[in-house]
Amino acid sequence: MDFEKIKNFIKTQKIPAYRLAQIRSAVYEKGITSWDKATNLPLDLRELLKKNFKILSVKPVLIQASKLDKVFKALLELEDGLKIESVLMKPGKTWSICVSSQVGCPLGCAFCATGKMGFKRNLTTEEICDQALFWSDFLKEKKLGERVSNVVFMGMGEPLLNYQNVVAAVKELSDSDYLGIGQRHISISTSGVADRFINLAQDLPQVNLALSLHNADNEERSKLMPINKKYNLDIVKEKLEEYLARTSREVFLEYTVIDGENNGLHHLRKLGKWISEIKDNYLLHVNLIACNKAVGKAVETDEFVVRKFSQALTKMHIKNSIRKSLGSDISAACGQLAINNGRKK
Ligand code: SF4
Repeated sequence: MDFEKIKNFIKTQKIPAYRLAQIRSAVYEKGITSWDKATNLPLDLRELLKKNFKILSVKPVLIQASKLDKVFKALLELEDGLKIESVLMKPGKTWSICVSSQVGCPLGCAFCATGKMGFKRNLTTEEICDQALFWSDFLKEKKLGERVSNVVFMGMGEPLLNYQNVVAAVKELSDSDYLGIGQRHISISTSGVADRFINLAQDLPQVNLALSLHNADNEERSKLMPINKKYNLDIVKEKLEEYLARTSREVFLEYTVIDGENNGLHHLRKLGKWISEIKDNYLLHVNLIACNKAVGKAVETDEFVVRKFSQALTKMHIKNSIRKSLGSDISAACGQLAINNGRKK
């Protein structure tokens, strides 16, 4: 829902301003999904809103629930018929959502199902925010208790290639008029669009930044993540240093362990060297993720292999933790989002 448009509409139609608070309460607090159910509003206003605004710009086509974890995945249809996926999960005590920022992705990382779809278009600010609103309503409808507390931009697409809309969406999501999710509870994960790091430091200094690294060898990383040809590890390092100097915020380095591909001694050494040469590297934290079965050559990595890699990093005094992948039975885990309409991959 584009609340800004509704605000302007209320103003231009000379409707009393207190109606806005009622609309806000109906949508964001009560979680109504159709204007007919907004019974706190007079009938004529409900009809007017129905004629001019949709509450949600995304329509659920399929919702899958994981049998392994507290994870739900939704296939959402956009107004032009294109589809995206969005994930709700509860890794700890609170609910988090993983949102998409593009339909498909132009970057074609070797281990990622989304990358194989190609790129269709950027999502609008409204379409990004409405994923949060959709899950917020879902939690209320299913009586699952709490609200959406965390948002990660780790779904389909590279968020920093849809920069303006992502920044506007973060501002809206954290606005107390909207869902009021604190910016420190919002994370943006990038494959390394390094030119944007400094913009992020200026525009959203409170938001968490995660960099998908996956390999610290330039040649090998380029094969895994073609974006490395444009922003190689030297460029990423330089821009990361600027970001760290400006924000003093912890940055997460995501490292999907692909057994036999990026977990050898040579990879450890390269990773250690790359991190040790970064100024303010005490602010860096490596998140290790076991590779899921997605597409291409990648095979599922055993947890034991990831633990071994983690121990080796710890010996090198590199801060790290192992991140559990959730929802792999419904292809909702990292690198698995792609439009398959619920069919098994
Ligand atoms: S990992 Fe991210 S950046 Fe790479 S292809 Fe997949 S969605 Fe795009």
